[in-house]
Amino acid sequence: MSDKVSKMADMLRVGATMLSITCPQCNTPLFKYKGEVYCANCDRIVKIVKEGEDIHVEETQIASKVLVDLGSIILDKVKSLSIIMQQEKDLDNLERIIKSLILLVDLLEKVRKIGKS
Ligand SMILES: [Zn+2]
Repeated sequence: MSDKVSKMADMLRVGATMLSITCPQCNTPLFKYKGEVYCANCDRIVKIVKEGEDIHVEETQIASKVLVDLGSIILDKVKSLSIIMQQEKDLDNLERIIKSLILLVDLLEKVRKIGKS
């Protein structure tokens, strides 16, 4: 899986919606997340400006804000899953929780890596 595709998959995993508009820089489909439009590939928040029939896309600052949000959402999930894990006695359920935790920690690591670059 390419880096671009995995970044896009991360956006979908946190509940972002893929838009029909593409990024002016890299032509990757843009995502809507928490009221902001975001390019997963360029790691930027982009602003959509409507001028009559034309839709313009304006790029703004590096999307560290989105990433901070993402990171804290993932951390919250990890915390609540840890609590569930402590109380869970069913092995199948435990396995499911552990798999989710692994995915979340992996995602958190990626988010932090993007945030640093
Ligand atoms: Zn882009």
